Amino acid sequence: MKTIVIDAGHGGYDYGAVSGGRYEKDDNLRLARLVAENLRAAGERVIMTRNSDTFVPLLERSAISNNAGADLFVSLHRNASENAAASGIETYVYPAAGQTTRMYAEIVNDSMAAVGALPDRGIKEGNFSVLRNTRAPAMLIELGFLTNQHDNAVFDENIEQYAAAISNGILRALNEEPGPGPSPNPAVIKEIQTTLNSRYGAGLAVDGVFGARTKSAVVRGLQTELNRIYGARLVVDGVFGPKTKAAIRPVSRGARGNIVYLLQAALYAAGYHIAVDGIFGAETEAAVRDYQAKHGLVVDGVAGANTFESLLK
Ligand SMILES: [Zn+2]
Repeated sequence: MKTIVIDAGHGGYDYGAVSGGRYEKDDNLRLARLVAENLRAAGERVIMTRNSDTFVPLLERSAISNNAGADLFVSLHRNASENAAASGIETYVYPAAGQTTRMYAEIVNDSMAAVGALPDRGIKEGNFSVLRNTRAPAMLIELGFLTNQHDNAVFDENIEQYAAAISNGILRALNEEPGPGPSPNPAVIKEIQTTLNSRYGAGLAVDGVFGARTKSAVVRGLQTELNRIYGARLVVDGVFGPKTKAAIRPVSRGARGNIVYLLQAALYAAGYHIAVDGIFGAETEAAVRDYQAKHGLVVDGVAGANTFESLLK
């Protein structure tokens, strides 16, 4: 078990970057909470320098890390530029940082770059207080530009993927076991998107990122199949509401077909690296059981209304 400090940049009267009514401090905290949650789920000791909208002085952030004898300090920010077209991710280290810190930063930055939704601006050097005054290896991540509306849309749609990329990168850097968070293979997601497009006319960008639009397309596919197979007469709107839930027929071991395919796609996006082939075998059943156990559902290995709802709502 390692001690990792997750530092949500800014807070309180320090808004950080501002764009319209959007404040960097809020985005940083949302992301920090998800990263911390993933790391804790992987069994690590996590200290957040703030977990609410409060002002924490820069020196205090480093002191929290130094007093805890942390193994790693990760500060989370969003970028800003006068150039509204500036876009992408980058990770800063202190100019005098050693080899270990640089290697850690590269591993985490590469992991974020692999999400593939934003350009990779690479590793940079910055004389920031939190990098200068923290004894543990320290990095400062800028996850997209708050001053770029495209970056903001990507941030909102893929925040869980980026949080998983950051936490899994941290775990890899520290030689810890990867956590249960989602770390999908973009090639598999692309195949799912292509199938949703050809089977249901989903019109998705085949970008390898399972975001809100892809999830909604899975729900539309499910509604289409429930109408086609069971005459459910659902409105095909991509929203998993009570009518869709009521129309679900449980699927279990031995089932095959398009509904199993959609279930597997949702499980894959939830972090289960199973074959997405429309055949409900032992592997799919194990994934369903594990998912049910982790989400407070009845653990029976049968994907019924509650399991579909939890995956797709
Ligand atoms: Zn900032």
